[in-house]
Amino acid sequence: MSVFGAPAEAPATSTAGILVVDDQPAALCAMEAMLKDFGQDLVLASSGADALRRLLERDFAVILLDVRMPGMDGFETAELIRSRERSRTIPIIFLTADQSEPQVRRGYAAGAVDYLAKPVVPEILRSKVSVFVDLHLKSLEVRRQAEELLALNRELEERHAELEAFAFSVSHDLRSPINAAAGFAQALREDCGDALGETGREYLRRISGCLGRMDALIQDLLAYSRLCRMEVRISPVALGPVVAQALAGLEAEVRGSGASVVVEEPLPAVMGHRAVVEQVVVNLLANALKFVRPGEPPRVRVQGEGRGSVARFRVEDEGIGIAPENQQRIFQPFERLHGGDAYPGTGIGLAIVRRGVARMGGSVEVESSPGKGSRFTVELPKAEGTS
Ligand code: ADP
Repeated sequence: MSVFGAPAEAPATSTAGILVVDDQPAALCAMEAMLKDFGQDLVLASSGADALRRLLERDFAVILLDVRMPGMDGFETAELIRSRERSRTIPIIFLTADQSEPQVRRGYAAGAVDYLAKPVVPEILRSKVSVFVDLHLKSLEVRRQAEELLALNRELEERHAELEAFAFSVSHDLRSPINAAAGFAQALREDCGDALGETGREYLRRISGCLGRMDALIQDLLAYSRLCRMEVRISPVALGPVVAQALAGLEAEVRGSGASVVVEEPLPAVMGHRAVVEQVVVNLLANALKFVRPGEPPRVRVQGEGRGSVARFRVEDEGIGIAPENQQRIFQPFERLHGGDAYPGTGIGLAIVRRGVARMGGSVEVESSPGKGSRFTVELPKAEGTS
């Protein structure tokens, strides 16, 4: 039997295999003549057994299978082709002179997708075969693109993990010299404060302030980086106690600013990771308490609800608000809309909120009007059996 085009075992992506099975050499010759200009790999088999061997060697776009063959006929061959995992989905077109209804039914039952009457009309043959060849080439292309995307995705994930690990170790290693410097600054103030004079003490205060800000930044970076690496185990978390605990931690800010904070009980229970939910709540409350006009006491409202399978949690303030064009970028790390003198911070809080919420299968969004206030809404899966 002859094979032309790419070698039989090479899974071509730009050409498709066409398998023709017929016991009559003259019929095979005629098919070869009709299909040879097709530009695809034509493989000829003289029996069912020969065809099954060819099918082990490579993939085909379509099989043209003679029904009447001695020994194993076309129907039996088709059934064996269908029974094998590798060839199960290859379309089969039966070649037969007998197109009586029982014959056709039997063919479809054996796995035929079409029939061609013998003697075969070249134009009909070519048009039917070209449909399956096109389909095959397109599905190969889709598969190739999917594999390419998967490989790219894997590479991106690896790069991302490397970057996270790098950020984590850099942040971690930076903390010890900063802490040492802060310790020496404190020792200098305590032991030699009088000798330094007013100017010296002011410089020292500034050094301590810078070190404190750097330490806060590194701690936030570590928290952000940890959020990507840690295993986030989900279990029911009642929001009420989390908010109470967060407000207790922010007591100095609440008291110092004369803030009014209203928590509308009851708050729902969510499916989340307790420590991550706490980080989300603390960051949103701290921002609501911080971003007010100078001298104005913050007014903050916390509320939530559970509907269907979703729990919502809102932190609303009447502070300075956020312009529409900035409402998305503030969730990126280091995006701050104000200088550190007016409103101190690291610019990582909302990035932690967004990543933390995403890792628990939820989302966060903001509605805000400059000068009127902001409302941050967090959506998380609701804990079952709660309202
Ligand atoms: P940080 O609070 O450390 O500056 P965040 O990531 O928490 O960093 O917030 C990013 C920026 O988004 C803030 O610097 C601020 O400009 C803006 N922002 C966040 N929350 C509020 C809010 N409640 N009201 C007004 N602006 C806000």
